[in-house]
Amino acid sequence: MKRVLNFIDGQFRPPGSGRYIPDVEPATGQVIAEIADSEPEDVDAAVAAASRAFASWRKTPAEERSRLLLRVGGLIEENFDELARLESDDNGKPVSLARRMDIPRAILNFRFFATAILHAETSAHATDDRALNYTLRQPLGVAGLISPWNLPLYLLSWKIAPAIAAGNCCVAKPSELTPLTADRLAGLIAEAGIPPGVVNIVHGTGASAGRALTSHPNVPLISFTGGTKTGADVMTHAGPLFKKVSLELGGKNPNVVFADADLEQAVATSIPSSFSNQGEICLCGSRLFVERPIYDEFLDRFLAGTKKLAIGDPREASTEVGALVSEAHRRKVEGYVALAKEEGGEILLGGKRPADLPERVRGGYFLEPTVIAGLDGGTRCMQEEIFGPVVTVTPFDSPEEAIALANSTRYGLSASVWTRDLQKAHRVAAAIDSGTVWVNTWLLRDLRVPFGGMKESGVGREGGFDSLAFFTEAKNVCVKL
Ligand code: NAD
Repeated sequence: MKRVLNFIDGQFRPPGSGRYIPDVEPATGQVIAEIADSEPEDVDAAVAAASRAFASWRKTPAEERSRLLLRVGGLIEENFDELARLESDDNGKPVSLARRMDIPRAILNFRFFATAILHAETSAHATDDRALNYTLRQPLGVAGLISPWNLPLYLLSWKIAPAIAAGNCCVAKPSELTPLTADRLAGLIAEAGIPPGVVNIVHGTGASAGRALTSHPNVPLISFTGGTKTGADVMTHAGPLFKKVSLELGGKNPNVVFADADLEQAVATSIPSSFSNQGEICLCGSRLFVERPIYDEFLDRFLAGTKKLAIGDPREASTEVGALVSEAHRRKVEGYVALAKEEGGEILLGGKRPADLPERVRGGYFLEPTVIAGLDGGTRCMQEEIFGPVVTVTPFDSPEEAIALANSTRYGLSASVWTRDLQKAHRVAAAIDSGTVWVNTWLLRDLRVPFGGMKESGVGREGGFDSLAFFTEAKNVCVKL
C-alpha cells in the first residue's frame, strides 16, 4: 500500500504519531493509499524548516526563483499523464477533465507567477520637493496554505506558486481526501532544485494539522480555500494572532439566462457550468434563472443535453461525469435531493444513483446529474451550498427580479449572465453581488484578474498582482530631500 508521507525540509518523513488515514478512490470505494495523520508537532517541524529556509530564499534573486518555478512547471508537464491519472483516481473526476483543466492549470500557475515576478513594479510618491516615498514589497516569512479536495493540484499550485515566487517559504496542508498529486508535486519540487524547506507539505486532517497551521505563531499569513464554515474557524484562530488571511470560500452561484440570449450557447455552457466535476467546482452555477418567455424551450434543451452526459468510470476517456469525492459527501448531496422534495421541489431529472455502471466502479459514489424545479428562493436547497451535481431552475420576469434572485443568498462568489443586449449585460453585471460575473461564458479565466468572493464567499482577492500583493508586505520608505 502506498504511504503518503510529509515533505519537510526536502525529505519525505513519517508523521510523529505513526498513524495513517486511509485514502479512498471514490470511483471504486477501495483504499488506494494511506496518508500521514499529522499532529501539531509535524507542523512545528515544517514551520521550523520553512523559517530556516526563508533566510536565504528571501535573498534569492527573482530571476533565480523564476527559473526554478519554470522548472517545476516543466516537470509537471513532463509527468502530465501520471498526474492526470492520480488526480482522477483520488478525486473521482473524469481523467479527461483532469487532462483538460486541472493539470494544464497547475503548469500555468507555476509559469504565470514565475514570469509575473519579473514584471512586478512598486510605486513612488514624490512629496513636492520635500521628500520621496517609495514602496518596498517584501515577503512575510512562512505562508500557511490550506487547500480543498475539488481541484487538488490546481488550487494547491495556485497558492504555492505565488507564495514562493514572492520570496516566502511555505507549509501547505492539502485536503486529506485528495493527497496524491500534492505528494507527487513534492517530489517534482525537489527534482526541480527548489532548496529544502522552501516548500513543505504536511498531510492530515483539518482539525489537527490544519488548525495547527492557522494557530501557529510563526506563520504570519494564511491562504485558505474551502468551505465557509471552515473559513470561520480559520478566522477564529488566525484573527487573534493578526495573521494576514485570504479566504476563498463557498458559493451558490446564479446563472441568469435572458430571453434574448443565444439559446444554443447558453444551453451548451449551462450544462458544464452545472455539472462539470460532478458540480464540485466552487464556480459551478447551481441556481439557474431563466426568463419566462424561453423557460420551457431552454429547459427542454437543457434536460435533453444533460441526459446525454456519459456517467461512468473516470478512467475512460469518454466519461463526462465521474464519482463524488466520498460516501459521506454523496449522502449529504442525496440529503438535499430528499429535502428538495419536502420543500415542494420537483425532480425533473436524476436524483438517483446510476444503474448499469461498469464492473470496476460499481462500488463508487456516483449520483446522476439532478435538475430540480419549483423551489421557492428562500428554501434551504436554494440557499445552501450543495456542491454536487444538482441544479435548481427558476423562471423570472424582469431584470430587476433576476438581480434580486441572484443576490438573495449569503454567498457572492461568481455569476453568469446570458444576453445579447450589451447595456443590460453591463447593468446586471454591475448589480450582482459577486466577485466574478461572466457574460455569455463561464469559467473563462485570465490569471491576471482579481479572483475572490463577496459576502460569505470570502475575504480578499488573489490572482495576478493581487496574489503578489497578498504574499508580500508593503513598506513605505520616506526619504527627506
Ligand atoms: P473544507 O473547508 O472542509 O476543507 C478545506 C481544507 O481545510 C482541507 O484541507 C481541510 O482539511 C482543511 N480544514 C478543515 N477544517 C479545518 C480547520 N478547522 N482549520 C484549518 N483547516 C481545516 O472544504 P472542502 O470540503 O475540502 O472543499 C469544498 C469547499 O471548498 C466548498 O465549500 C467549495 O465551495 C469551497 N471552494 C472554494 C473555492 C474558491 O475559490 N472560493 C475553490 C474551491 C473550493
